[in-house]
Amino acid sequence: MNAYRASLLYFRPDHTAVHEPDGLLVTAPDAQGVQRVQAIGAWSALRHHHGHLPIEHLPGRLIAPGFVDLHIHSPQVDVIGSPAEGLLPWLEKYTFVHEARFADPAYAQAAGGFFLDELQRHGVTCALAFGSSHVASVDALFEAAQARGLRLIAGKVLMDRHAPEGVRDQTEQGLCDTEDLIHRWHGRGRLGCAITPRFVPSCSDAQLAGAGELAARHPDVWVQSHVAENKDEIAWVRELHPQARSYLAVYEQFGLLRPRSIYAHCIHLDETDRQLLRHSGAAAAVSPTSNLFLGSGFFDYAAADRVGHLYGLASDVGGGTSFSPFHTMLAAYFVGREGQTKAGVSLRPQDLWFQHTAGAARALGLEGVVGNLLPGCEADFVVLDPQATPLLARRTAAAQSLDELLFALIVLGDDRVVQRTVVAGPGGQAGQGRPPTMPSSAKDVP
Ligand SMILES: [Zn+2]
Repeated sequence: MNAYRASLLYFRPDHTAVHEPDGLLVTAPDAQGVQRVQAIGAWSALRHHHGHLPIEHLPGRLIAPGFVDLHIHSPQVDVIGSPAEGLLPWLEKYTFVHEARFADPAYAQAAGGFFLDELQRHGVTCALAFGSSHVASVDALFEAAQARGLRLIAGKVLMDRHAPEGVRDQTEQGLCDTEDLIHRWHGRGRLGCAITPRFVPSCSDAQLAGAGELAARHPDVWVQSHVAENKDEIAWVRELHPQARSYLAVYEQFGLLRPRSIYAHCIHLDETDRQLLRHSGAAAAVSPTSNLFLGSGFFDYAAADRVGHLYGLASDVGGGTSFSPFHTMLAAYFVGREGQTKAGVSLRPQDLWFQHTAGAARALGLEGVVGNLLPGCEADFVVLDPQATPLLARRTAAAQSLDELLFALIVLGDDRVVQRTVVAGPGGQAGQGRPPTMPSSAKDVP
């Protein structure tokens, strides 16, 4: 068992945030060696039951759920920060060129390790990731994630048209490779597979139909793709599928809208599309830094909440400009203020935080598994230092409420705030971040 005494943040089952200024978190491994939350709450309430354990005391630190990134591209660590005139030129000029390198397993292995290092350094403990179209890119990621005990969901990109030699796959071979990855990796330890058609323009009807058949055959496997990001992209989809009611309806037509399917962006949707998301159980991966960077538009929070479909936050690196959940939450706040209807909303800091933790986990169908620290959850968490910079120390010391504290972290925070990232899986305790220091005995605690 491990026990940590610190300030705690987690979410009740009704999604409201709990802040325990002086709390205790107790974790213990399950039969698979995954640390799970045994108890969480006020130190004063739990000390009698758990006070005998060796307790790591972290005064001044905030323990919060590890962040969940709903949409990211592992091969794009070398694409981040590439300027372009919008989505389609950006894909052509940078993305496809870099992704072609992942045909080489050695390159994929080195880049995959770097990618996971960056996630963990920024406090992200679970991600839904695109690989490249090469199986090697996904094998490398899974091998590295397994060694670290990370919960990772990933897939090989399906892309049998409108892409250059080197990243284009073959219609049938791409589908066979996807199913082979499912057989070899899905459900192994903390790993999961995703069927990954890049987006409608890059997949033939035959490949989309095959992806839909895979999705039906493997209902607990995830589906990930992009939709309604950019106006030029939407016009292109309309040319390719003139009969379809909308871009999103193309995915529906091929059986790709269901629970555990996650669609990046979802900016230019209409009411019928949003109802389709809601009723199918599919979710939107809101990617605000990417949308601002590529000038794609603004996710409509008010409309999403009115309809009540699932959504959560995502970095979308490398269209996104940062691995940092703090930067993503701040960009989401800007996007909320703007709003599509010009009746912007002020997203509450604890709602932004929820969207990047428990809310994102819910969108993945992993509510109560990751993204939270309620008893039974896998104990992925971050140790945050609200005094990581002089300005943060000054500002957070003046915070009068949880929302004020969280907003100061969102606006001023980055990887410097993340003092440690603790991953629940076997190997995770000794992975990124320092292993727990020698436990201080209970008598050290006032
Ligand atoms: Zn993307």
